Amino acid sequence: MTGLAPMDVAARADRVRAAFAGAADVAGIDALLVTRLPNVRYLTGFTGSAGAVAVTPDRLLLVTDGRYAEQSRAQLEAAGVDATVVIGATQADQLAAVAEVVAGHDRLGVEADGVTWAQQRDLAGRFGAHELVATRDLVEAVRRVKEPAEVARIRAACAIADGALHELLPGLAAGPTEREFALDLEFAMRRRGATKVSFDPIVAAGPNGALPHARPSDRPIGRGELVVIDFGCVVDGYCSDMTRTVSVGDPGPDAVRLWEAVRESQRRGCAAVAPGVACATVDGASRGVLDDAGLGEYFVHSTGHGVGLEIHESPRVARTTTDSLAVGFVVTVEPGVYLPGVGGVRIEDTLVVTADGAEPLTEFPIQLAVP
Ligand code: ZN
Ligand code: ZN
Repeated sequence: MTGLAPMDVAARADRVRAAFAGAADVAGIDALLVTRLPNVRYLTGFTGSAGAVAVTPDRLLLVTDGRYAEQSRAQLEAAGVDATVVIGATQADQLAAVAEVVAGHDRLGVEADGVTWAQQRDLAGRFGAHELVATRDLVEAVRRVKEPAEVARIRAACAIADGALHELLPGLAAGPTEREFALDLEFAMRRRGATKVSFDPIVAAGPNGALPHARPSDRPIGRGELVVIDFGCVVDGYCSDMTRTVSVGDPGPDAVRLWEAVRESQRRGCAAVAPGVACATVDGASRGVLDDAGLGEYFVHSTGHGVGLEIHESPRVARTTTDSLAVGFVVTVEPGVYLPGVGGVRIEDTLVVTADGAEPLTEFPIQLAVP
């Protein structure tokens, strides 16, 4: 994609450092070893499949292996990130470089959600002089607030998905199989400039729609069936996510009532999105409509999630979440109902939280009838 403003990648390490004091509840950390790859990318611009970053109060280190010697340096330079890059042939070499940089920083944070049991044992052996501190959602919490240039990438991905659906939806009347339609969506998004899909598209017609994460089958999509279409793509690392439920021809009064209830639930959820609002309040706004319609027991997932470098990221928009929304958060609102053996309806938009509420980034019209 061209025409996207550069992101301020270099500013991100300081935002992570600012979170050191409150990390691991109140005890804090003195340095952080970042091993989750989306976080490595966020802090450095490096997109390789292997690598780690050490963040200390005054240094930033990227370690990776020989496959990425040239790429890592080029990507850090392109991102304007001033960091030491060490290429280590083995993991031991790479950890030795980390040890040098974190020396003297006693409480060394590690990402509890990005370290396997085996890695934890290696780290404990290697960093015996430090206190290893398990952290959770440290970089992820910083990532929740998107810079304008990050929002621009998500918006571009959403626009590509919108365009692909505009192109293909009229073709639903010809009765393609779920798999054919899903594949066409992938091609259409790639042709429009997406790097890849943000997840395998869900195209679920008739009874298959009762499975929230159905896999597209070889079943032809029939007239009068509800079709759940949930898909998205990636632009410069950033994901889009949107669901529409449509029908070719009249799906009958029961299906229309179901669809209208989810439509209203989704509308209320989106209307609740604003800075300072608890995620649980947004969930409640959507869930309340379905509860009142007697459909609450068929709404089997949470209302939404953050979207960014990962398709599902912080915050969760759920009953049990204690987080509140802030300006720059990008979240989905996607209530659904799933009637076993009958079918399902889900409607999902991706929104960015703004100073005075929220703005939808997915703009495809929400309508039941296929044009
Ligand atoms: Zn989705
Ligand atoms: Zn989603």
